[in-house]
Amino acid sequence: MKYLVVLAVVAIAFWIWNSKRKDALRERRAAQAPRVPQATVRCAHCGVHVVRQEGVQHDGQWFCSKDHARKGARSPAEHSGASS
Ligand SMILES: [Zn+2]
Repeated sequence: MKYLVVLAVVAIAFWIWNSKRKDALRERRAAQAPRVPQATVRCAHCGVHVVRQEGVQHDGQWFCSKDHARKGARSPAEHSGASS
């Protein structure tokens, strides 16, 4: 009878340890899961890509900063020009 009690305690201890291990595994897997890609927007002034939450929207266009929003969009010709 004594051995049965010891066996039960060991079984319960193992069960608790096992469930904790599963929780840890699940948490680690959740942490490793790829995050939802954040939507990025392209600055209409300098062309840099920024996360939309950090971008500034102005006149239906996105900018990387308030400074560039104030300066406004540059024309494509100006953007690709070598003189800048
Ligand atoms: Zn910019």
